[in-house]
Amino acid sequence: MKRLSEALGVDLWIKRDDCTGMSTGGNKTRKLEFLMAEALEQGADMVMTQGATQTNHGRQTAAFAAKLGLKCHILLEDRTGYQDGNYNTNGNVLLDHLHGATTEKFPGGHDMPGEMERAAEKMRAKGHKVYVIPGGGSNPTGALGYVNCAFELLAQANETGLKIDRVVHATGSSGTQAGLVTGLCAMNSAVPVLGIGTRAPQPKQEQMVYDLACKTAEKLGCPGVVKREDVMANTDYVGEGYGVPTESGIEAIRMFAELEGILLDPCYSAKGAAGLIDLARKGAFKDETVVFLHTGGAAALGGYDFAFDNADRWVNL
Ligand SMILES: *Cc1c(COP(=O)(O)O)cnc(C)c1O
Repeated sequence: MKRLSEALGVDLWIKRDDCTGMSTGGNKTRKLEFLMAEALEQGADMVMTQGATQTNHGRQTAAFAAKLGLKCHILLEDRTGYQDGNYNTNGNVLLDHLHGATTEKFPGGHDMPGEMERAAEKMRAKGHKVYVIPGGGSNPTGALGYVNCAFELLAQANETGLKIDRVVHATGSSGTQAGLVTGLCAMNSAVPVLGIGTRAPQPKQEQMVYDLACKTAEKLGCPGVVKREDVMANTDYVGEGYGVPTESGIEAIRMFAELEGILLDPCYSAKGAAGLIDLARKGAFKDETVVFLHTGGAAALGGYDFAFDNADRWVNL
């Protein structure tokens, strides 16, 4: 990212997992590659998952289900309380419905995994074979997608002769970082990964990632490769809470959009980029080559138009 590198004084590269395909792409594509295979293997005719109203994971699950001819039901938790029309029906929600998925709304703080089990039981009673995918697709099966990403990243760095000093990305339900760290450790790579938090406080976030990395390493056949100190999260950029835009995130969206022509989303990738930008400005990546893993999310932008004041973009020449 030439212009952003110049602006921040750091050698910045980007891995475009926002271009992974399936309804505009994003990090859930790699997880769903394994999860949907498991669903098919088990003979499922329906998948069910859950997330926040503007869940990217739900949208990508809906797209995969459409492609594979499975029914899809998404349980949406209202984590922000926004009454805004676009937030509740545009962006990812619009795309969920376009892919043929059904959605169901729940208040914030609800027991979503429990609710999903109840819903799955109801559909099983009606004769469906339901495959339940956890929020964010974050379990050892889904995390294998990011083990693959780690392998791919190392191969690309080798091919191009790029020495990567650090990988930075937005972390949430933890499957992305858990898979990446597991893959890098399994390959004996010393590249550190910094997750920028989007919801939980640091101790909880790191523990979630570490626990899932341990299980993923076991599934991969190399138990114990991940050490606790391999898991690093910075949660200083969450702001008021999950899914609530921050000033630094909005600045990050504008910088990526105006300097690189790349779109971020207010909930995840913008907060990850805000951490990247702030830490770069503070000199934390001095003389480093940093790869920002773009986890996607721009499909949510249409649900967040209220967060942007673009009045000065209308001009009369
Ligand atoms: C889900 C998501 C993340 C977080 O990934 P996890 O594996 O849940 O930690 C980051 N960015 C975007 C755009 C996402 O949709």
